Amino acid sequence: MIDALVVGGGLAGAAVATHLAAAGRKVVVFERRHVPHDKVCGEFLSHEACTYLDTLGINLGSLGAVPISAVRIANRNTVTTMALPFPALSLSRGRLDEALLQRATAAGATVHHNTQVQTLTRTNSGCQVRLADDRVISAQTGFLATGKHDLRGWKRPAGLQNDLLAFKLHFQLDTSQAKALKGHVELGLFTGGYAGLSPIEGGRANLCLLVRRKRFTKIGHTWDNLLAAIREESPHLNERLNGATACSDRPLALARIPYGYIRRRAHGLFHLGDQAAVIPSFSGDGMSIALHSAALAAKYHLAGRDPNHFQRQLARDLKAQVLFATYLSQGLVRHPLQRLLTGLIRIAPTLITTTAARTRVPNWALARARKRGASLACGVKKVRSPSVSSCPGPLAV
Ligand SMILES: Cc1cc2nc3c(=O)[nH]c(=O)nc-3n(C[C@H](O)[C@H](O)[C@H](O)COP(=O)(O)OP(=O)(O)OC[C@H]3O[C@@H](n4cnc5c(N)ncnc54)[C@H](O)[C@@H]3O)c2cc1C
Repeated sequence: MIDALVVGGGLAGAAVATHLAAAGRKVVVFERRHVPHDKVCGEFLSHEACTYLDTLGINLGSLGAVPISAVRIANRNTVTTMALPFPALSLSRGRLDEALLQRATAAGATVHHNTQVQTLTRTNSGCQVRLADDRVISAQTGFLATGKHDLRGWKRPAGLQNDLLAFKLHFQLDTSQAKALKGHVELGLFTGGYAGLSPIEGGRANLCLLVRRKRFTKIGHTWDNLLAAIREESPHLNERLNGATACSDRPLALARIPYGYIRRRAHGLFHLGDQAAVIPSFSGDGMSIALHSAALAAKYHLAGRDPNHFQRQLARDLKAQVLFATYLSQGLVRHPLQRLLTGLIRIAPTLITTTAARTRVPNWALARARKRGASLACGVKKVRSPSVSSCPGPLAV
């Protein structure tokens, strides 16, 4: 009998599979896509995400992750630079997700690529999935980790902010612009949205942006119009993209993201990552939430505890952060509030530290997931707090 079925081989799915397989459980993961594949994501790895990945045995340095030590916020002609309150890294999702699935396989999980799950249902003895080719596979426990995509019968409510469209495209920047961007994540504000630009491995940069649907409609519903409008409104971003070459013809896109959503009841399954909570993207903490949920779920499952207990605990861990980030995100896409926020940051740069602290998985929650951690005895590294071998050292700025 399979112990755990994991639907979705993104960060949360691959991480929980690694924890459970390393503890000797029989785990099967279904991932609908081939690997490597890219995803809509800012690709910013917070300190907590780096720590969790290190625990799982992922060497971010050897994958080519680049250090990020400061943030620049550009609102029209005003640019403010501040040190990040923690060391961070940046790495493409294509590379990161592939490495995590390889890690799950090495730990003993069976990973099926190109395998779409159609339905996941509870049964008297556990759960079962029906695959696209009509095969049915049963297990004792189900882990739902399909990220932004809702499985039939498990649709998430709309969240608190759901009118944003997301786009992501990699660029090869002009040499002088790549040099100017080095070590920074840059946030450019524009009417109805914000765009993040950060360096990633291979000398490329990732442009990831969110725009209100009504603004996108107003400018004619095309990516080219949107990019032109953003470049016109944000001289800073425009300068960065001068002479840049897009790495693909079209950006990846995403709609109906339920920002602010937090799941409180499990209904017999462990809901992980974006299926458990969706924090607005500017926080750069969605990946650490996914990894935290995986570590906590594995811990609860290995201790024989009910998924409902896990889901309630996870909601308690994340509620304040997700709600605070969502209210802030609602301000970030409205022009008067953009001005107010950037003005406040200029007057009191420590606001960035406060905001960063209030939009991350709290330390007490991380510490609890570490204590009696799922992975401890079984080949997954013990969490070493707080140093991260693959992260840069303390900030010099
Ligand atoms: C615009 C934007 C920018 C972001 N920027 C950042 C950032 O800079 N830093 C950060 O930390 N977070 C960021 N995030 C959040 C982060 O991307 C997510 O929180 C994180 O990817 C969630 O991980 P996950 O494992 O839950 O889902 P995912 O990583 O999305 O993985 C889900 C997997 O499930 C698979 N799947 C889906 N349906 C099925 C099915 N039916 N059968 C089989 N497989 C299936 C998918 O193919 C996918 O591989 C951003 C999000 C957005 C939208």
